[in-house]
Amino acid sequence: MKNHIYDVIILGAGPAGLSAGLYAARAKMKTLIIEKGIAGGLIFTTSEVDNYPGSMENATGPGLSERMKQQAEEFGAEFVTDEVLKVSVKEDIKMVEGTMNEYKARSLIIAAGALPKTIGCEGEKEHIGQGVSYCATCDGSFFSSLEVFVVGGGDAAVEEAVFLTKFARKVTIVHRRDALRAAKSLQEKAFKNEKIEFRFNSVVEEIKGEGAVETIVFKDTVSGELTEYNADPKDGIIGVFIFIGYTPNTKFLGNVIKTDSSGYIMTDEKMATNVEGVFAAGDIRVKPLRQVVTAVSDGAVAAVEAEKYVERMNG
Ligand code: NAP
Repeated sequence: MKNHIYDVIILGAGPAGLSAGLYAARAKMKTLIIEKGIAGGLIFTTSEVDNYPGSMENATGPGLSERMKQQAEEFGAEFVTDEVLKVSVKEDIKMVEGTMNEYKARSLIIAAGALPKTIGCEGEKEHIGQGVSYCATCDGSFFSSLEVFVVGGGDAAVEEAVFLTKFARKVTIVHRRDALRAAKSLQEKAFKNEKIEFRFNSVVEEIKGEGAVETIVFKDTVSGELTEYNADPKDGIIGVFIFIGYTPNTKFLGNVIKTDSSGYIMTDEKMATNVEGVFAAGDIRVKPLRQVVTAVSDGAVAAVEAEKYVERMNG
């Protein structure tokens, strides 16, 4: 692996990376996709993907990502599981340093996505996996017939709140303002759902409990008043699902690739970054709409542009 030079290395196997892998491998580029976890990125943790054209009822995130991965593999893209620690991009041959190996390529596509934001309140970290979750698909079934709170007012919070009503007895959306940010169609679904309640102008100030979550302390964002909410004694526990946005996964890049003040990579419409031969695709870049459909589009453009770049380099 150390001396092998790929035409393109793609960092991340979410929809953007998998689409880039498909297009690059199909164009006969020697393609490697490096992913530290499971292929699929954020859609792997998404219950339903009903806004990707062609994905109809019952299309799950894990199902869609598995099919995308298989398709890229069928065209010859190689996959490796490794965590990338550092990239060196100043020379013509780009170096990628992982925990397991070092990799080389003529071009790079950074599609490492974004990670869920945490509230940062007391008791949140301690209760991860014990009642605090950032993935309804993964943990929703643990809360069958129980009560759960969903923090956030965007598309993710509202969509996952609706999904959680399949399991939970009651779902309360906790939002820091008095109006949701989510798309109107999602809001309508939530307002119509009898299992969903709303706690507006509220934030979570503390999460408490011996082991599992037993109490949530809410703060009223208007009056500043604190209120303790205890689990129903017959349940004993509460679920807290947090969907308050994402942070781009760009720390490992250092300061070589230009980002905006929030850390998202700046590209032109050809997905080119400020460094020649380095492209970015998907949620990791500055863009107005972060969706599967825009991620796969980015991936395709990045792969085609990487191919042109490598061809130019090879003379
Ligand atoms: P988002 O759109 O950034 O919304 C984050 C929500 O969390 C906002 O309501 C925000 O409140 C709230 N928030 C942020 N920080 C907070 C904090 N510290 N404490 C309490 N609340 C906080 O994020 P998202 O919903 O995760 O969506 C991310 C992207 O994925 C968006 O582009 C979205 O459209 C897309 N997405 C789309 C779908 C879909 O189309 N089906 C599903 C999921 C995600 P404010 O409103 O007050 O800012």
